[in-house]
Amino acid sequence: MPIRVVVPKELTPKEARVALVPDSVSRLLKLGFEVVVETGAGRGAHFSDEQYQNAGARLAPASSLYQDADIILKVQPPLDEEIDRFPSGSILIGFIHPYRNIERLRRLSQKKLTCFAMESIPRITRAQSMDALSSQATVNGYKAALLAANLTTRFFPMLTTAAGTIRPSKVLVLGAGVAGLQAIATAQRLGAVVEAYDVRPAAKEEVESVGAKFLSTGVSAESTGGYARELTAEEKTKEQEMVAEHIRQADVVITTAHVPGRPAPKLIPEEMVDGMKPGSVIIDVSVDSGGNCSLTRPGEMVERNGVKIVGIEHLTSELSTHASEMYSKNLFYFVNHLSQGGKTLDFDRKDEILSEALLLDQGEVCHESTRSLLSSHPPSPPGGDGRLPAGGAAGGEGGS
Ligand code: NAD
Repeated sequence: MPIRVVVPKELTPKEARVALVPDSVSRLLKLGFEVVVETGAGRGAHFSDEQYQNAGARLAPASSLYQDADIILKVQPPLDEEIDRFPSGSILIGFIHPYRNIERLRRLSQKKLTCFAMESIPRITRAQSMDALSSQATVNGYKAALLAANLTTRFFPMLTTAAGTIRPSKVLVLGAGVAGLQAIATAQRLGAVVEAYDVRPAAKEEVESVGAKFLSTGVSAESTGGYARELTAEEKTKEQEMVAEHIRQADVVITTAHVPGRPAPKLIPEEMVDGMKPGSVIIDVSVDSGGNCSLTRPGEMVERNGVKIVGIEHLTSELSTHASEMYSKNLFYFVNHLSQGGKTLDFDRKDEILSEALLLDQGEVCHESTRSLLSSHPPSPPGGDGRLPAGGAAGGEGGS
């Protein structure tokens, strides 16, 4: 019997991506998998049912989609109504973010599901092709720069025209990880003059390699796995002074600063926004973990003294075709690795990539940190949604 992979349509509002694109369907079929795709699943990302059929997938309505499913591939964490339909014992692969909604984790566990969280794949060279945090952060950074160029009242490039010379815009990027570097590169290509700041000294070389000026406070806050740690109170003060000095000159600020498992660091308090030039724009890419600007509102554009502060959610859905293509490739390589090329579902629990991403093994919680979180949050009373405050997320925000 071939291993059956099922791809539902994403039900999360404003989510336009699809987990698997037709090209990855053909690749899975070549490995001997069977692929069932929900009718209309690719519509938001502009992949038609016909393209899926031509690639060899079978289409099914939601009512019969999960029949005999071995593996379910998703983008967003499943909603309750989806979990209710997942067959007991099946394997779910996608962004799960258990720390944002404990009840969801409990329900998945009760269903005896095996869950792999794409946000927990280790950032090691061997797993680069499966790194969905990076692929989706790339989309976020690119789109944030374009959005800023659209919203600012100034040109990005220098222009020499008969009507005079226009100075290029100054773009300040706070947080120079994957999203930040892509934002820098995109703003540079549009002709802006870019400065960037990060707390990891390693970011200096990367920022300079894409042509921007690196700003430093002299603080070194590199933690395990190449991630940043939270700053001390004294370090935060130094940081605020430096950001305040540079933000006054900026026409555009793109913020992507993030610390795993913590609320996003607040780099731009209200008073700093008041010191900015009217007509300038802040794009807060860290909105899902609470935002880097204290005026950011999820899903909204706030205007304060002529400064626009954009807390757009689901940026990846604005580029749904390519975001889906990239995510789909990450999933393909992960499924290929998990199943040893389509041969088995009896995966190697000692493998570093699989063990770190494995959240639930047939309903059993695999990591001590997740277990203690579950036990410290007893089941919600009826009507409670099990959500934790913004920022209680482990891992990055690339999936949202
Ligand atoms: P992230 O989303 O966790 O954070 C974004 C950036 O915010 C990081 O660069 C971080 O240093 C920065 N930051 C945190 N607190 C800050 C503060 N107070 N002020 C300013 N900046 C702050 O990061 P990411 O993009 O997921 O990348 C994390 C790390 O993983 C990086 O070192 C990156 O190079 C590395 N990485 C490695 C691989 C690989 O080897 N396969 C792949 C992708 C990323």
